[in-house]
Amino acid sequence: MTDAKKAIVIGAGFGGLALAIRLQAAGVQTTLLEKRDKPGGRAYVYHEQGFTFDAGPTVITDPTAIEALFTLAGRSMADYVELLPVAPFYRLCWEDGTQFDYANDQAALDRQIAQFNAADVAGYRRFLAYSKAVFREGYLKLGAVPFLSFRDMVAAGPQLARLQAWRSVYAKVSAFIEDDKLRQAFSFHSLLVGGNPFATSSIYTLIHALEREWGVWFPRGGTGALVNALVKLFEDLGGCLQLNADVAHITTAGRRATGVRLVDGRHYEADSVASNADVVHTYSQLLSGHRRGVQESARLKRKRFSNSLFVIHFGLKRPQPQLQHHTVCFGPRYRALIQDIFQGQALADDFSLYLHAPCVTDPSLAPQGCSSHYVLSPVPHLGNAPIDWKVEGPRYRERIFDYLEQHYIPGLRKDLVTCRIFTPADFESELNAHLGSAFSLEPILTQSAWFRPHNRDAMLTNLYLAGAGTHPGAGVPGVIGSARATAGLMLEDMQG
Ligand SMILES: Cc1cc2nc3c(=O)[nH]c(=O)nc-3n(C[C@H](O)[C@H](O)[C@H](O)COP(=O)(O)OP(=O)(O)OC[C@H]3O[C@@H](n4cnc5c(N)ncnc54)[C@H](O)[C@@H]3O)c2cc1C
Repeated sequence: MTDAKKAIVIGAGFGGLALAIRLQAAGVQTTLLEKRDKPGGRAYVYHEQGFTFDAGPTVITDPTAIEALFTLAGRSMADYVELLPVAPFYRLCWEDGTQFDYANDQAALDRQIAQFNAADVAGYRRFLAYSKAVFREGYLKLGAVPFLSFRDMVAAGPQLARLQAWRSVYAKVSAFIEDDKLRQAFSFHSLLVGGNPFATSSIYTLIHALEREWGVWFPRGGTGALVNALVKLFEDLGGCLQLNADVAHITTAGRRATGVRLVDGRHYEADSVASNADVVHTYSQLLSGHRRGVQESARLKRKRFSNSLFVIHFGLKRPQPQLQHHTVCFGPRYRALIQDIFQGQALADDFSLYLHAPCVTDPSLAPQGCSSHYVLSPVPHLGNAPIDWKVEGPRYRERIFDYLEQHYIPGLRKDLVTCRIFTPADFESELNAHLGSAFSLEPILTQSAWFRPHNRDAMLTNLYLAGAGTHPGAGVPGVIGSARATAGLMLEDMQG
């Protein structure tokens, strides 16, 4: 690779960082432009009164994909960041007091499953075997392959058909497991990447096998420490990260991208441009001056988008020994609530929550004797429910605090030191997320693989995408996989 080649990556989310590292490691002089004052994207970090709050991803899976970024650059991950194992992976709780500790220990799992329903012990084994088969086909073989032509999709067709990819996650789980709560326990995972378990392809059951294969991890110092490690790796390789660099336009000449212009007027030229920013934002705003941008954004806006999230970060002046690191708090309704989250036009009266208690694994994230947390509630995106979050946000926070005090954290308000909220409106304004979606396009079969925006644009021959809006989709392993697919194309094109 000639070191005269220059690339620009717009956005320093995990996808943008992974792409920039791969390009820089291959000798392409890469500039990473991020509009916010810190890198990470959804994995932004807030520091307040001695508390560290990771804003987004906390369940770190597939450490091999992360480690690969260091080894391809000839470095050792251990010199940059330490990943701590999380056990149990999650605690799942229901309102009647039932709990399920989902751990990577077959005997413990069997024991717990038997307490719910003895017949499901064998059913779970069959489900795990299915999930492993999907993991091999869907993740190991196809997770970092760019689906550029329909031929690629046709080639994958027989495997997808054999695995019954047209069925939903929930339908497939229910084919193996009878108990209602266990069906929830083994189908909720697609929600972690913005997929409705009742609509998303059963391919997403692979998340279960992925966790069983490689475990669930948490970086020492929080997810932000992993972001910082990737930034350091990129800079050690000679890459240039510019923060507060809000890209206004991708500049073009005919069918080629020539560089970018920032909101503050700065201009950068490059041989190739890749966007890790939201795909609708990329086409509708950054390419608004090109007919490709106009056409593609109109097409994308007709797609289905994933739900949004309402997140409360809060610090308490007491540890919470009753909590595990990750708790999923199931509310009274499952299917009907998910329907409200994906299609509803208002907030439901009930909720299911995810509660983060990272001090269980790493007490350094709060001042001594204190604990830092976040709680998130999946909510409709702004296109379905145009809620005024300035008014509703504080009210919704109080409803969630009432619920947590009643079920999980007695005395929460009494011990509260600091607290902030992040709403769908913030996803839209801070992250340029179309409709405030937390995960970009909904991962249904007809919006996956070749049907998802491609890693290389179909018209602008040196414009690329990486991140949640392209193949394979949202989630840290997904966007790191997308960066691998995109880097492969970019390097091939630059060599050609
Ligand atoms: C609250 C929450 C919890 C989650 N939990 C998990 C989890 O536990 N495990 C998991 O695997 N996944 C989780 N996810 C999903 C995962 O975080 C995301 O799918 C993934 O991080 C998205 O990465 P990305 O590369 O697509 O970029 P993003 O993180 O979306 O970053 C894109 C970047 O582009 C920047 N940008 C946008 N427009 C411009 C512009 N014009 N100029 C310059 N920069 C621009 C943005 O500021 C942003 O930094 C979670 C998501 C959320 C929101």
